[in-house]
Amino acid sequence: MSDCIFCRIIRGEIPCSKVYEDDEILAFRDIHPQAAVHALIIPKKHVATLADASPEDAEVLGRMLVLAPRIAKELGAGEGFRSIINTGKHGGQEVYHLHMHILGGQQMPAMIK
Ligand code: C5P
Repeated sequence: MSDCIFCRIIRGEIPCSKVYEDDEILAFRDIHPQAAVHALIIPKKHVATLADASPEDAEVLGRMLVLAPRIAKELGAGEGFRSIINTGKHGGQEVYHLHMHILGGQQMPAMIK
C-alpha cells in the first residue's frame, strides 16, 4: 500500500472535497486554494511526476486535459482558467503523485511570457 497522500485520498483514507471521479481519474478542491477556484485533477494510478509518465499513461493524461474545462466550468471558472503541472524539484512539486492544478474563477495574474 502506498503512503502517498493522494493515493490515500483515492482510497478514501483521507477526506477530500471531490468534484469528479471515474475509474481512472479523481478531481477535488485544493485544501489551500490559490484562486477563487482551485481544483486538482489526478490519475488514480500512482505516477510520481509528469517526467515519470510512460506512453501507456498518455490516454489518461489526455482524458485529464479534456476534463479540465468541464470541471472548471462546473466550479464557476467558465470564463477561463489556468492549468499547471508542477514537475520535480525545480518545478516546485510538493506532492509526488502527478496532478494538474486548475485555477480560475478570477483574473489570473500574468506569468512568464
Ligand atoms: O504542485 P504541488 O505538488 O506543489 O501541489 C500540491 C498541492 O496539493 C498543493 O496545492 C496542496 O495544497 C494540495 N494538497 C491538497 N490536499 C492534501 C495535500 C495537498 O489539496 N491533502
